This record gives sequence, C-alpha cells and structure tokens, in this order.
Amino acid sequence: MMLIPTHHFRDIERKPEYLQPEKCVPPPHPGPVGTMWFIRDGCGIACAIVTWFLVLYAEFVVLFVMLIPSRDYVYSVINGIVFNLLAFLALASHCRAMLTDPGAVPKGNATKEFIESLQLKPGQVVYKCPKCCSIKPDRAHHCSVCKRCIRKMDHHCPWVNNCVGENNQKYFVLFTMYIALISLHALVMVGFHFLHCFEEDWTKCSSFSPPTTVILLILLCFEGLLFLIFTSVMFGTQVHSICTDETAAGWAGLRPTHPAPRTTPPPDCPKCPKPQGNRTIEKGREKMG
Ligand SMILES: [Zn+2]
Ligand SMILES: [Zn+2]
Repeated sequence: MMLIPTHHFRDIERKPEYLQPEKCVPPPHPGPVGTMWFIRDGCGIACAIVTWFLVLYAEFVVLFVMLIPSRDYVYSVINGIVFNLLAFLALASHCRAMLTDPGAVPKGNATKEFIESLQLKPGQVVYKCPKCCSIKPDRAHHCSVCKRCIRKMDHHCPWVNNCVGENNQKYFVLFTMYIALISLHALVMVGFHFLHCFEEDWTKCSSFSPPTTVILLILLCFEGLLFLIFTSVMFGTQVHSICTDETAAGWAGLRPTHPAPRTTPPPDCPKCPKPQGNRTIEKGREKMG
C-alpha cells in the first residue's frame, strides 16, 4: 500500500519542468575564462587587510625591536630567516586561499537542457538552489556572501575573504598552520627578549625607549597568544574534517549528512518538493528493500 504514493512522487520528480528550469536562464555575461576569483565584500576585504597589517606589525616588532638591536648576530640571523620565511608562507597561502575559486557551482545551470542531460533515473532527486538557480551537487552549500553554491563548503571565512571549500581548503589549512607557527615563534622570542633585557641595561636592548619597547612587545604578546589559540583550534578542526571527510557546514545541519544521494530541500524553497514528499520516497524505498 505504501508503494503507490512513492511512484507518484517519482513521476513528478522525473519531469524537468518540476524544477521550473524556464526561470533559470544562464547569466548574460558569464565572464571570460581565467578571470581571477575575488569576493567583493567590504567586511571581508577589511578583515583581509587587518590580517596583513597584523602580520606586518609582528614583522616590524620582531625585526626592529628584537632582532636588529640584538648583539647576538647568530641568534638574530637564524630567527630572522625562520620568522620571515614563515611570514612569507603565511601571506602567500592567505593570497592563494583568498584568490582561488573554492569550488563554485556554475551559476544558473538549472536550465531545461542541463536537467535533461542529467538523464535522471526514476526516484532520483536533484536539488535546485533557489538563490543562484544552480543544480546543487551533493555536499554543496549556498554561501550568501559569495552568492554562489560551493562544493564541499566548510564555512565562509572573512579573514581570507572567501569560502573555504573543495578547491582552496589546502591553502586555508596551510594559512592557519603558518600563522600558528609564526605566533608561537614570536611568543618564544618575546619571552627570551624579556628574560635577556631584565638582566641587562634596557637602553642596550632596543633602539626604542623602554616604555615604547614594553608596549610594542606586550601588544605582540597579546596578538601572538590570540592568534596562536585561534589558528591552532582552526587547524585542528580542519585537519579533523579532512581526515573524517566532513565539513563544518555539514556538522551544523545546513546540509544533508554524508553521503547524501538524495537531498532534502530547505523549508524556504517554494519551487522544490515538500520535505514530506521526500520522506515518503525514503520510506517507500525502505519498504521496497
Ligand atoms: Zn546557490
Ligand atoms: Zn562564501
């Protein structure tokens, strides 16, 4: 008895018209191939600039307050090379994370031709994003900042002014790792500097006045501690999500759990099948199995 409504829903799902593809026309100007990916979001751009400023501030304090005035040249050269290398790698991975397409689904691809080309099998459900008019692959999620559906979206990070998704997660993981390392390195150097300068004359320890030196070092300590904790936690969760093949957006229940061959549309999607209908399909399938 339960199989009859299941077939009824399947018939509806097989019709491409059900997704109203006529309302989805490809964007008029898709943009030339090879266009650089960059999200024009004021908040994200400001956060990305602040990130660069904080790294450059740390660079300034480490070089001009601690290393250059130091009389231990070996210590200064080794730490200077390590710190600058980590800073360069952190900023380079930041740029790659920010300027790499995180895995955006083509906008407006929910056209009649595309849905027909999918050759849907009976019972197969495809989900159209009502916001960007695209057919969402499994584990894709719509980002309201990027205004696109992103494959394997983890979250939108304002610090890199981009979504963290399938294509740029490795750069984001590297960015958090280098920032954690650079923060730890700066904290260790500040610790050594304080220990060294308590024993010596402060005027020989820095080219700045003692109060200025202390303020600059305390600010660096605060920044280093904050970012060491923040990026370590983020690095740990990212590595965990890669190892378990999960994403933060999936954990938050924003998308179906993995694996999800059939997706349940959100309640705000008037054009998509009602959740009750999908549940009926699953129920019918279970009974058939
Ligand atoms: Zn979308
Ligand atoms: Zn985004």
